Amino acid sequence: MTSAITKLLVANRGEIAVRIIRAAKSLGIPTVAACSEADAGSMAAQLADEFCIIGPARADQSYLNADALLEAAKQTKANAVHPGYGFLSESAAFADAVVAAGMIWVGPNAETIRRMGDKAQARSTAKAAGVPVVPGSEGELESLEDALKCAEAVSYPLLIKASAGGGGRGIRIAHDRDELSREFPLAQREALAAFGSGAVYLERFIGQARHVEVQVLGDGQHAVHLFERECSLQRRRQKVFEEAPSPALSNEQRLRLCDSAVRLVQALGYCGAGTLEYLFDAQSGEFFFIEMNTRIQVEHPISEMVTGIDLVQWMLRIAGGEPLTLRQSDICLNGVALEMRINAEDPERNFFPCPGVVESLSWPEGEGVRIESHIFQGYRVPPYYDSLLAKIIVHGAGREQAFARAREALAATELTGMATTLTLHRSLLEETCICAGDFDTGTLERLLAERSVLPAPVAAEV
Ligand code: ADP
Ligand code: ADP
Ligand code: MG
Repeated sequence: MTSAITKLLVANRGEIAVRIIRAAKSLGIPTVAACSEADAGSMAAQLADEFCIIGPARADQSYLNADALLEAAKQTKANAVHPGYGFLSESAAFADAVVAAGMIWVGPNAETIRRMGDKAQARSTAKAAGVPVVPGSEGELESLEDALKCAEAVSYPLLIKASAGGGGRGIRIAHDRDELSREFPLAQREALAAFGSGAVYLERFIGQARHVEVQVLGDGQHAVHLFERECSLQRRRQKVFEEAPSPALSNEQRLRLCDSAVRLVQALGYCGAGTLEYLFDAQSGEFFFIEMNTRIQVEHPISEMVTGIDLVQWMLRIAGGEPLTLRQSDICLNGVALEMRINAEDPERNFFPCPGVVESLSWPEGEGVRIESHIFQGYRVPPYYDSLLAKIIVHGAGREQAFARAREALAATELTGMATTLTLHRSLLEETCICAGDFDTGTLERLLAERSVLPAPVAAEV
């Protein structure tokens, strides 16, 4: 079927821009890379059929500048926009503007983004669809008085969360009444400054939970899931190492979880790729919805590896007018996939960002190894954006083989010129509880605090 997309503007950078360009190429869709001045020599600019400078390095003047992106699309005669993740990917206003300019938005419609992007409202929507949510407030809380009243029913410890938050930011813990009284106004002020909305809500803090999320795909009529990802290994509420499927779920729990996700997206008439995030209490077997991301996620490749389905191609096919022909019964789990995020950060110095020039670079190869990256030898990592350099993804028939392949892949990786999280991942792969699949959202921070991972640096790497 010929796609309604005749030329695609990639409104993002880094590895995800490269990923999107490759998917478009495989479908025969010409691409335009929208680049800031700092990214004029980027891999995305080289791989795309054309590239267009949208503004200075600063994200607010380039990748977050909707007018500049629309102008770039107009000038290059692109008729579709893929936003990737981060930046404007969850901006309903940008999605609206793209459509108003007569172009195709590769993602769900603006109304859905608005509805699910507001985390307090998303909870209500999930609840209405019969999906269990973490006990918490009904919608946004405006006054401290309301918050204190609500907290009695929710019970402490609890989290104050920004409705518009993301990227692990905008979340504060309160262990008691006093702490809530102190933190609530601060949370409101901080949310307003960081996300442009001071709306906050409360959620019971679930200790020792696992972060398990379901990948979905829909075409507006029909929706399927691609099973779940385990993303409990986090630092500062940001994912570091992911796995598919989750080693914590029984098959019966898996089906219940994934069915609940499909029920919710069916109710939304969801169109595109999306992720429903849950906390899973392994002790009780209960799961609770926390939020939905109405975009492609960083860790999507592990779902692709275990299902054999190309999510980014499907996003483009659906946006181009093709119906989602995948049936749930056709989607099977095959083996185990792991993803390790390689960031330009120094694990020995509290993960301080340390962009630099890539001096030597050599990626692992071989069966079951996949690299998603935009860096090359001589590449200068710009200091303006997030620090993700690459994702090393491995697939194995089971966990044991996947972990063995991950160790080999990391041993075969050479990346010099700056400190990276490669050292962290090498040590995580040796950690007994991680190899056993026995961890929760607090495990990585605990290991780091105890220095069980990242012991004294190896001489060669100093
Ligand atoms: P994923 O589950 O795909 O890893 P994240 O929530 O970590 O998703 O977000 C992916 C990227 O988007 C990261 O670079 C993150 O910093 C950025 N991001 C997500 N939401 C926001 C937000 N509300 N404000 C700023 N950056 C965000
Ligand atoms: P973001 O929008 O920034 O991704 P989330 O609501 O998805 O924020 O939460 C990020 C992380 O914070 C989760 O993956 C989990 O580790 C932790 N978290 C969120 N809500 C809770 C909760 N109610 N109890 C315990 N941990 C939580
Ligand atoms: Mg989240």
